[in-house]
Parts: sequence; structure tokens; C-alpha cells
Amino acid sequence: MIKGIKGVKDLLPEETPRWRLIEETARRWGGRYGFQEIRIPIFEVTTLFARSIGASTDIVEKEMYTFQDRDGTSLTLRPEGTAGTVRAYIEHNRAAVPVPQKYFYFGPMFRHERPQAGRLRQFHQFGVESLGMADPRADVEVIALLWRFLSDLGLQGLTLEINNLGYTADRESYRPHLVTYLRQHESGLCANCRRRIEANPLRVLDCKVSECRAMTETAPRLADSLSEAARSYFTRVLHGLDVIRIPYSLNHRLVRGLDYYNLTTFEVTATNLGAQNAVGAGGRYDGLIETLSGPPTPAVGFAVGLERIAMLLPESALLTTANVVVYVAAFGDQGSVAGFSALEDLRTSGIQAVSDFRSSTLKAHLRQADRLACGFTLILGDDEVEKDTAILRNMVTKSQYDLPLSSLPVAIQPLLRSS
Ligand code: ATP
Ligand code: MG
Repeated sequence: MIKGIKGVKDLLPEETPRWRLIEETARRWGGRYGFQEIRIPIFEVTTLFARSIGASTDIVEKEMYTFQDRDGTSLTLRPEGTAGTVRAYIEHNRAAVPVPQKYFYFGPMFRHERPQAGRLRQFHQFGVESLGMADPRADVEVIALLWRFLSDLGLQGLTLEINNLGYTADRESYRPHLVTYLRQHESGLCANCRRRIEANPLRVLDCKVSECRAMTETAPRLADSLSEAARSYFTRVLHGLDVIRIPYSLNHRLVRGLDYYNLTTFEVTATNLGAQNAVGAGGRYDGLIETLSGPPTPAVGFAVGLERIAMLLPESALLTTANVVVYVAAFGDQGSVAGFSALEDLRTSGIQAVSDFRSSTLKAHLRQADRLACGFTLILGDDEVEKDTAILRNMVTKSQYDLPLSSLPVAIQPLLRSS
């Protein structure tokens, strides 16, 4: 037997309604905030990700699915959506369009990680990128969209954490203070963090190892090195969130290690997700577009993991009214022919209709209609064809009606509606 790849999941029909609900809700909220869908490729040249995500990140260091194309070009399956979106923005000169470019995307992402609950090798994200506005209201708008979307799905136990990364210059003046502190306490840090002291010291702040967390609790804080401009920007973001009543909590550990991230950074976590508790994350990345040789473009966005949202989705969110489905129970020589034609007539007039072609007796058909939870069964045997009728049976009340076979779709409509 050939099996699927480890960390790559199938979504069986029982699960897809959940996913559809999540995707439809995301589209609705994206649309309400004026974001438009962009569809970007699943693979790109490797340098795009290496440059945009950053060489010293987990993703680029060890998680990318990279392979050589036949001509030797190095290609990579996308590990996230921002790089491709920004590449498309630059390549299609969207900076010249005189309105803000606000995009959302959906799709599979690929990272070579150790598979576990909430951590897959092929997973799915919904993300948005708001390109062109250097205004705190653009940050608030993106955060609000994320919060409204998750709240609309009825997810419980969510926290929005937010932090101010300041400008690059702010972090440069902070860095030596942090590095000095980390060097003094090096022996108390995990091996990863000891490596990070030089490469990416800010990342030590969000290490999950408890010894590292304890050690950095008393470290100098970035907040104390921030410029007036950075403080004022962040104050306006928080004020905007207050005005529209989005609850948040400040978290000084929330960092990104790369230069083109600045100012607002945020994450939504869930209490009942276990170890992989992040639902989504985002922030401002005003330097990225220039890093990729595009025109200076302020930008802010987020990405959320759909698997983790699906895990959190309450059953009650799925209680939508089921479609009325008609099961066609056709048997006998003439009944089978007439039934097959009736099945098609129902469908072309907009009615959901099914049958099991393996069943040849009324009893077997009725059993299948029950298993498929059909609201109605249309019974068509040779006797019915003889009389030019079909019998509609309400599977709940068990009442039955004779319908004229020649005008079936018209005659059936009011009976389905009244159920
Ligand atoms: P984590 O700390 O969980 O590794 P991350 O910082 O790598 O997250 P991002 O790159 O910010 O995650 O991606 C945003 C969201 O995508 C995450 O919050 C999570 O919900 C989801 N996600 C990331 N990696 C995976 C994965 N391997 N499997 C499932 N979902 C994932
Ligand atoms: Mg990760």
C-alpha cells in the first residue's frame, strides 16, 4: 500500500465542511475590510525566501523544501505567503496603482518540521498584506480583521498579544545592551540561544525553554531604548484598538529577528491548543519591499494557521441547516430507466438528488436513503411508471404523496419547501 507522506494530511469529507466554514468566514471578513484575493504560486526561486524570510531563521536554516529544477535553478516550495505576495506586488508594479494594495491569500505552505499535533509539513494559511500605508490605522485595521474573523468563528480562549519593535535604529541601540546581558548570563541559556547571542540576539527573548525565559525576564528591555517616534506610533495603534474595543495584552517577548520588521508586532494565542498555541502572527514590515528591490513601501500583515483554527472550531459553529436531499429509489426494468431520468431532472432544476445504483429493491433503497440522511425519497417502480406517477416519501414524518411523473420537478418543489 502506498501511503501519504508523514506530516501531510488528507481532509476527508467529514472534515471539509469545517474548512469551508473557516474559508468562507475569512473571505467574508477580508472583503468587509476591503482586501482582495491574490493567488500566488506554490513554488518560487529559493533566493526569494532566503532573502525575505532571512537566513538566520528556523524556516530558512532547516525547514524549507528545496530542490533543483532540471536546468539547475534552485526552487523552494513556499513556506509562507508574504514573500510571494510581495514578489508579485513588485513584479506587476502595483506600487503605481494609486490606491492601497490590500491582498488576502489562502493555501498550502510547506515546512520540514517534526510532525505533531498542530504542526505539519504541509499546512494551510490564510494571510493578508496591506501595502502602501504608513499609518497606525492600517495596523489596527489588519489586527481588527484578524480578531473579528476568529471571534466570528466562535473560537474561545484567544489572546491578542502585541509589542513595539521600534525602528531599525532603535533596535541597533538596544542590541549591545541585550548582548552584554546575554553574555553575562550565557551559561544559563540553551544551546540554541547561545548561538543566537551573536546571530540574532532578539530571538533569545522568545525562546520557549523555561531557563531562557527566566534568564531574560530581567534582561534590559527594548521598550526602554525606543525613540519618541516609535513610541508615539505604537501609542496610536493601541489607542485605535481601544477605540474599536479590540482587547490586547502587551508582551515584551514578542520579537522578530529581521531588520525589515518594525513597530507593531502581534500574535494570537489560544489557551487550549497545547504546546503549539499560536493561531497566527503578524506585524509591520516596512523594509521588506526594498529588500526585494522594490520601491519603498510601508506594509503590515498577518498569517494564521487553518489547521489550528480547525482544531479550535466549536461544534456549534457547524450547526447549519442541512440541504434537503432527495433520494431516488428506482427499481424494476422501467422504474430504473424512469428513475435515472428523474434523478437528472431534479438536479437540473436545482434540487440535490442522489441514488445508490447498487440497490435493486425498495427495501435496500430505503435503507440507503436513511444512511445518507436524505429528507425525502422518490419511489419509482414499474407500477408507478405504468400509472405515470412517482411517490414522494417524507423520511421523517413518513407521509407519502403521489406526483405526476411528467411534471415532476414542478410538482415536487412545494412539497420539499413545506418540510
Ligand atoms: P510556531 O511558533 O508555531 O512555529 P511560526 O512563528 O513558525 O509558528 P508563522 O510563520 O508566523 O509561524 O506562521 C503563522 C501561523 O501558521 C502559526 O501561528 C501557525 O498557526 C501556523 N503554522 C506555522 N507552522 C505550522 C506548521 N508546521 N503546521 C501547522 N501550522 C503551522
Ligand atoms: Mg515555526
